[in-house]
Amino acid sequence: MAEVILKNICKSYDNGFNAVKNVNINIEDKEFVVLVGPSGCGKSTTLRMIAGLEDISDGELYIGDKLVNDIDPKDRDIAMVFQNYALYPHLSVYDNMAFALKLRKMPKDEINKKVKEAAKILDLDHLLDRKPKALSGGQRQRVALGRAIVRNPKVFLMDEPLSNLDAKLRTAMRTEITKLHKSLGTTFIYVTHDQVEAMTMADRIVVMKDGIVQQIDTPQDIYDSP
Ligand code: ADP
Ligand code: ADP
Repeated sequence: MAEVILKNICKSYDNGFNAVKNVNINIEDKEFVVLVGPSGCGKSTTLRMIAGLEDISDGELYIGDKLVNDIDPKDRDIAMVFQNYALYPHLSVYDNMAFALKLRKMPKDEINKKVKEAAKILDLDHLLDRKPKALSGGQRQRVALGRAIVRNPKVFLMDEPLSNLDAKLRTAMRTEITKLHKSLGTTFIYVTHDQVEAMTMADRIVVMKDGIVQQIDTPQDIYDSP
């Protein structure tokens, strides 16, 4: 069975707008799936429903064999990274990464181990005492990734995580995220409007338009298709 299954997923917002219409996607364990399409096509809404940040109007969502439609975000085995990083400005890099684990009352030495491991993977070892305002854009984005990594989620959700970075950094971070996916061996679901990002990072690409799925294929097949 696939790791994440969207079965006839629909979203109508309170104003009656149908943002997502009958979406079916089967995402395999450890797969890197990119949702791509123009602004307003329903990518974020879809991701936010997977995260539990938005109610599902109709359909079924499974994460790791479990129907999660009515499960709290914190009890779904997921972590989400946002475009605007959403770091706590008054906390150090270390405490930003430790935050969710402290909330979960994880023992301190275990927190310490997890944060240091993540910091090593992301090359943040030397920045643990800094506050977010003393970091570059790329470093902030790595802290945001670090906060997600320490939780060992089965599924990583990312919503346009690179769109606030300049072009050069974006290219570098693409490579970093691809490497991260390989080294963590977890499922990634990544939203972008940038076709280059989709083509270079995805195992499979989901092309959305006007709330529907137009195509699901490997980058190669999408490149080859007329
Ligand atoms: P994307 O991520 O592809 O840019 P979104 O999922 O953010 O698209 O939005 C899909 C559509 O739903 C857009 O037309 C947007 O205006 C609309 N939408 C998003 N949030 C709301 C909301 N809270 N209420 C009504 N419409 C919304
Ligand atoms: P709290 O503020 O919740 O009491 P502490 O600040 O005492 O937590 O930190 C708990 C552990 O985390 C310490 O044993 C320490 O090793 C580690 N730690 C905290 N801040 C840093 C940091 N900036 N760099 C490296 N390790 C840190």
